[in-house]
Amino acid sequence: MANEGGSSEYTLKANEELRLDCPAGRSVSVRLEDGTAEIFGSELHRGRSVSVSGQKVAVFTWSGCRVTVQGEPGVVYVADETPNAAYLNVHQTLSARREEAAKAGPGTAAARGPVVVVVGPTDSGKSTLCRMLCNWAVRSEWQPTFVDLDVGQGSVTAPGCLSAVPVEQPVDPQEGFAADIPLAFFYGHASPGENPTLFKALCDKLAALLQRRAAADAKASASGLVINTFGWVDGVGYELQKHIISSFQADVVLVMEDRLHFQLQQDLKSSPRTSIVKLAKSGGVVTRQTDERRTARDHRIREYFYGTPTAPLQPATQTIRASDIAVYRIGTGPRAPSSALPLGASSLADPLRLTGLPPSLDWQQALMAVSYAATPEQILNSNVAGFVLVKEVDTARGTVTLTTPAPGPLPGRYLVLGSLRSAID
Ligand code: ADP
Repeated sequence: MANEGGSSEYTLKANEELRLDCPAGRSVSVRLEDGTAEIFGSELHRGRSVSVSGQKVAVFTWSGCRVTVQGEPGVVYVADETPNAAYLNVHQTLSARREEAAKAGPGTAAARGPVVVVVGPTDSGKSTLCRMLCNWAVRSEWQPTFVDLDVGQGSVTAPGCLSAVPVEQPVDPQEGFAADIPLAFFYGHASPGENPTLFKALCDKLAALLQRRAAADAKASASGLVINTFGWVDGVGYELQKHIISSFQADVVLVMEDRLHFQLQQDLKSSPRTSIVKLAKSGGVVTRQTDERRTARDHRIREYFYGTPTAPLQPATQTIRASDIAVYRIGTGPRAPSSALPLGASSLADPLRLTGLPPSLDWQQALMAVSYAATPEQILNSNVAGFVLVKEVDTARGTVTLTTPAPGPLPGRYLVLGSLRSAID
């Protein structure tokens, strides 16, 4: 390593990676000087700086390279042990399946490319592996669909969603997935445990919709799905993981932990079409605290409305009549503690019940989804057009002030309220 004027140079041997942890607000960028290198599967272009501020990333090389780091990352070191060769092996197996699917007649069951689900505890590198698999697939001329079921974070659109996006170009290390028109169902909560019945129902809807789409697009169909999940793998969380695997009819489940691998192997014995593969977690994966995850979630909401420093967006603030919108909640809303129920009574609440809500100060700071539904009955079956953030509610005047991604009328009249809140404005 050599340091000159705030910039440090690193020479990496084949299969080594430079790991950087760059605090937000500190300007740090990396530039490939020589050789070849990639950030989570996205190739770096020689001589072009890539900002990595606010991120934890690795610059990996298959054949050796020289890179410079501009600025001062919090942590920076070279690692010579990574699981990337095993990850690439998975990619190659998946691509062979894609080839077979592409050869099969369109519309037939064999024309379906691999459906891959990545499972593992929080901070085991699931999202990173999904990103690598998508990037390598794109670089091999496929167009996989990335499905994000990690409702607590949301790397495709706002948090609280089950969403999908076709990946047509490598994921930008800075901007993340290019999601102009993501397909999203709004679940509304940061934890799948908040309303597991709703989570399952939306999972089924997304899986069915993607299957219909694949039937109409041979390339997308052969390219298959890469599905990211949440890190809750015990109890109800584990049941939900199994639901995801069966709902999407997974062909391959990549598991980032021994115990979970063993458990899934036992439980899915009767589904021979699903291979359960154990993969090692990378030593570079950084553990985040709960409050860091909350901050990241807030950051995602902010990004939805305001964009990123390199691709800023200009949201609008508009005051509309409360009677121009109809706000619904799915399920029972904030749960009453069991101690609040009469002795011996259990909650009979319907987790899929739709309740229309009158304007309320409670809406302030709520993230609401704008549904494509044309009637309230369609809300549960409809994906969402986008999101609004409630700034103010004036119950006396009957007005609501919203932050919206763009000026002009909302794309729908029906709004869905969950439990996600943000004070970004
Ligand atoms: P999960 O999806 O399982 O919660 P992530 O894939 O989001 O885990 O990884 C957690 C954090 O670790 C992310 O900030 C990610 O960028 C970082 N990370 C993953 N792999 C590496 C690596 N090899 N070097 C440095 N940071 C990494």
